[in-house]
Amino acid sequence: MRRQAVPGSFSLMKKMNTSFILNTIREKGPISRAEVAKITGLTPATVTNITAELIKYHLILEAERGESSGGRKPVMLRINTNGYYVIGVYIGSTYIDIVVSNFNSDNIYSDKIRIDTRIAGEIVLKKAAEKIKDWMDNNKDKKILGAGIGVHGLVQSKEGISLYAPNLGWEKVPVKEIFQKHLGVPVFVDNDVRTMTLGESWFGLAKNVSNFIFLYVGYGIGGSIVIDNQLYRGTTEGAGEIGHTTIEIDGPRCSCGNYGCLQAMASETAIIERFKEVLSKGEKSIIRDWVGDNVDSITPEMIFDAALKGDRTALSVVKEKASYLGVGIANLINTFNPSMVIVNGNIAVLGKTVMDCIQEEVRRRSMKYLQNSTKITFSHLGEDATLKGAVALVLSETFENPDLVYSSHKV
Ligand SMILES: [Zn+2]
Repeated sequence: MRRQAVPGSFSLMKKMNTSFILNTIREKGPISRAEVAKITGLTPATVTNITAELIKYHLILEAERGESSGGRKPVMLRINTNGYYVIGVYIGSTYIDIVVSNFNSDNIYSDKIRIDTRIAGEIVLKKAAEKIKDWMDNNKDKKILGAGIGVHGLVQSKEGISLYAPNLGWEKVPVKEIFQKHLGVPVFVDNDVRTMTLGESWFGLAKNVSNFIFLYVGYGIGGSIVIDNQLYRGTTEGAGEIGHTTIEIDGPRCSCGNYGCLQAMASETAIIERFKEVLSKGEKSIIRDWVGDNVDSITPEMIFDAALKGDRTALSVVKEKASYLGVGIANLINTFNPSMVIVNGNIAVLGKTVMDCIQEEVRRRSMKYLQNSTKITFSHLGEDATLKGAVALVLSETFENPDLVYSSHKV
């Protein structure tokens, strides 16, 4: 987060300076007060006052002494990793995953609840919230900052409502309200793709990267865009529907109703469809031995596995689809000039094979002077991105508004 110390009303100025200092310590720590003053442009007295308060509230601590250029070694400051804990929840298509983590996203508790879609969303969530509350009651010495919740489907993040979760059949479920009522801590809610993006930004490859684009390739393709360290949400929170940009005007019909969307050309669903088509034309594949005539049981994992084993049919389908992904990424590079594009999804198991296809299209189709400034990479977080992102939902809010801690935790 690169902010500037700004003048203004005292409380606003103090809040912004506190956030600025806290983020500087997070990014550069262990760091001396003198260095913090140099980076932030704040006076040594202001840094001393604000860091004293941050220490008092257990957000940072004095660590080992650093190197000295002569004279006494300076006291170094760093984030107090275990000063507080954060609840992270991911509401997926079949399970609710729960963790309690420290500031490093190291888990001290984790749990999993199967979602029964025959039961109303409100009741399922109440059960999950009660489980977390039990843990909190048994671990009263652990100070909880808040809960971050990533939800699959369409989410109204401000009110924390799951507007529509297609795989669960949930509509207008007040996620934030339910958890806040049971847990009694601040709750922050967002959709799964934006949550994963935040996970990349705090704990993944996009750490300290101001402009990047995240793409999740699963049965659909989701995306989100970070500009100047901020998630770009768009006018009605709809930004990032990269999966529904048209790649092939005569392409197959997409679930959104359009034809030839990136999702219809390069998602796991597209890979399965294309593979079945090729198979029906008589192409040979080891997957035939695995499923016999039961082609409907073919999964994306089978196709990736076969491709890894050198199955030529599987490999050619995956490569073809990866090229379409490359076309989509080339368009993103030309539109946003990001310094990084992170791709997450099972397709990453094919590593270089897929990345080479993507890179080839990017070289062919994006502007020469733009393509070299964008690093394209697979996520290192993989499936952990959602829960880490849920934890980051709370952390990003806290580091932006440290006064949330001051007002809710007595010292
Ligand atoms: Zn579409």
